[in-house]
Amino acid sequence: MKYSFKIFSVFGIPIELHISFLALILLIYIIALFNFVPSINLLTAVLITLIFATVVLHELSHSYFARRYGIKIERIVLLPIGGVSEMEELPKDPAQELRISLAGPVANLVIAAISFVVLIILRPYLSIVLLGALYYFIVVNLLLGLFNLLPAFPMDGGRILRAFLAERMSFIKATKQAATIGKQFAIVMAIVGVFFNFILILIAIFVYVGADSEYKSVVVSTLLGDDMVKDIMTTDVNTLSPENTIEDTLRTMFSEKHMGYPVMDSGTLVGIITFEDISKVPEDERDKPIGDVMSTELITSDPNEGLVQTIEKLNKNRIGRVPVLKDGKLVGIVSKTDITNTLQKRELKLD
Ligand SMILES: [Zn+2]
Repeated sequence: MKYSFKIFSVFGIPIELHISFLALILLIYIIALFNFVPSINLLTAVLITLIFATVVLHELSHSYFARRYGIKIERIVLLPIGGVSEMEELPKDPAQELRISLAGPVANLVIAAISFVVLIILRPYLSIVLLGALYYFIVVNLLLGLFNLLPAFPMDGGRILRAFLAERMSFIKATKQAATIGKQFAIVMAIVGVFFNFILILIAIFVYVGADSEYKSVVVSTLLGDDMVKDIMTTDVNTLSPENTIEDTLRTMFSEKHMGYPVMDSGTLVGIITFEDISKVPEDERDKPIGDVMSTELITSDPNEGLVQTIEKLNKNRIGRVPVLKDGKLVGIVSKTDITNTLQKRELKLD
């Protein structure tokens, strides 16, 4: 992740702080030290730090089990909204996913239980303020544990539910069902939120969106996991020359029904022209050559590139197609439409 700094490693797993997280912690301490906000004192700041430390423990528990099953953990990144364990791959075995996902919330519940025992033992010796802080710490850990057990992606509970279902059906069907359950759950939560608490509605939106995107990414990686660009690319590519006028290109686009073309100059790919590039040109300037308006910042693909990577490339750069090059020579083109069509065919086979 960009803008994050390594602070230390545990079991060889780097723990990184995102810059926004670092800024937040610093801000809390500055407010506490200079007494800018009466309710935030040094004890509050230490308490918040401790709560973040439990987020690290939550993530480390996931990582510990993941590593036991041979899954490599790239790193753990801490964001103000919580932690993210960047795993190299998802566990294929549902029983393993179940344990890895359970480990995090269980860690919070165990911390809450231990702190509760500490609270009971130390009660006679601590001041009211310290007891209050400890009590708050226990409640936060209980909530973190229980919240993560909600049966909806992207919470751990969603993964637990999927793992449970995947014992009985294919991984992808299990994901589909788990995502559906998660979304229904979010809707119920939003309705409850309308009557009781506005924050529930916000959480419900977060859950709904999370469930949907998790499902989509699993569908894509499961259905296209082994496919490469060369399997679906169009090899018979129509190209244009930089000297072609915008007017002519527009006509070609309408007659051939393609929205983008690679532009070649004496056998070399020099740019790509899309309908979007052209639509920005005023009508009285359409006698200009496309060489003037094409994009020359080329994003290309390789015949052996995995389709999942190509989708990421298309989405990240907000483009509809990529020319495919082999040893610098244009060998094909692959578009979002090609990939969507392949996906739809595969999905139909599933049901
Ligand atoms: Zn977790």
